[in-house]
Amino acid sequence: MAKRTNNTGLVYSTDTGRICPKCSRPVAECQCRKQQQAATQGDGKVRISLSTKGRKGKGVTLVTGLAMPPGELKALAKELKQKCGTGGTVKQGVIEIQGDQRELLKELLSRLADK
Ligand SMILES: [Zn+2]
Repeated sequence: MAKRTNNTGLVYSTDTGRICPKCSRPVAECQCRKQQQAATQGDGKVRISLSTKGRKGKGVTLVTGLAMPPGELKALAKELKQKCGTGGTVKQGVIEIQGDQRELLKELLSRLADK
C-alpha cells in the first residue's frame, strides 16, 4: 500500500491556494471570511433615508449599513422606535421607522457612535 506522492497524487497542490484554518476549504470557497466581511460592512457608513415610495402617509425612515448581528439590530430598532415615539420594523438588516425621523435618528445614531 504505497502512497503516491508525486505531483499528480498530491492532495494539496500549489494551485489550490491557501486553505482556511476554520473550515478547511480553499480560501476562494471559504464562507468564514465572507461572513466576517458582511458583519463589518457598513461600519461608519450608516445611511438614513426617507422612503415614501408605495407607502401611505409620511413614509418611513430607513437606516441602512448598520454592522450588527440581528439580535442587536432588533434591540436598537426597539430603542429608536421608543425615542421617536413611533412604530417600525427590521427588514433584512435595515431598520424602518415610521414617519420622517431623519433628524432625530441622525442625532440618536451619532450619539451611539460616540460611545
Ligand atoms: Zn473558512
